[in-house]
Amino acid sequence: MKALLFDKELKFVTDYPKPVPQKNEALIKVTHAGICNTDVEITRGYMGFKGICGHEFLGIVEDVNAQDKSLVGKRVTGEINLGCGNCPDCYNNMQRHCQNRQTLGIYKKDGIFAEYVTLPIENIVEIPDNVPDSDAILIEPLAAALEILEQVHIKPADKIAVLGDGKLGILISLVLSTTPANLITIGKHENKLDILRKQGIKTKFLQNATETKYYDIVVDATGSVDGFDKAVSLVKPRGIFVLKSTVAAEKPMNLAPIVIDEITIVGSRCGQFRPALRLLEKKVLDLKPLISKTFDFDNALEAFNYAQEKGVLKVVLKF
Ligand SMILES: [Zn+2]
Ligand SMILES: [Zn+2]
Repeated sequence: MKALLFDKELKFVTDYPKPVPQKNEALIKVTHAGICNTDVEITRGYMGFKGICGHEFLGIVEDVNAQDKSLVGKRVTGEINLGCGNCPDCYNNMQRHCQNRQTLGIYKKDGIFAEYVTLPIENIVEIPDNVPDSDAILIEPLAAALEILEQVHIKPADKIAVLGDGKLGILISLVLSTTPANLITIGKHENKLDILRKQGIKTKFLQNATETKYYDIVVDATGSVDGFDKAVSLVKPRGIFVLKSTVAAEKPMNLAPIVIDEITIVGSRCGQFRPALRLLEKKVLDLKPLISKTFDFDNALEAFNYAQEKGVLKVVLKF
């Protein structure tokens, strides 16, 4: 089958073996894939991954290796963390923290930039008919945005700043705008901030964000280690700093302000798909402006380069 492989460099191959579903796994024919910043970070060495990358997808179930075949023919996506199924984290529905997990296209498990992928049935989530492909393809980053609501108690009068106006920053801002908190998104790109303003969210250019120790909660979604110091400077004493950027880079940092101002740091990664799907079903968020361009899967390498261009948001591959 055709697949986009990463092994020191990205390669488009046509002879990759089609995966075979193991017991209680489904074989899914991929129809759409989203290119994520994490994929780009992988090509820079993040997680030391080798294999088929990609984890944001939609597809049609072609076969199920189990007695119940009811998923066959369904339009689905899938949770990206595969737990061992046999540890306290897995029993508590926290497969995304299982210490023996595999992560689709990120860690020890081939991803979805390929014609077919296999996934455990328990990871598979059916897409309701009223959710279009263009919304559903954003479910993984949307779930990651919703993870903040699972981790942080947002009070109605809280002042919140989201730092960063990339895909994840926009999704986080949209999700937090469903709460009554006083939200502002701080970014560098007029066109991206405009997407938020059109949905009633206050925005500000980074160079105008001169306030310090002002926000109860600051979310860093800059995708860069350089955002860290700025984000910390915005947090009130005893405030909460949510770190959303996963980058391959490293940087020495001054932790003294965190101690002096008694700031709580919350690391935040993947979220659950089913709540994200419920939010999509309600049609309260307009995600259309987040899709920059759709490419044919055969042009995946070109799409990958385009995804790294300035000003580009989500790039989708169609199979
Ligand atoms: Zn992603
Ligand atoms: Zn486990």
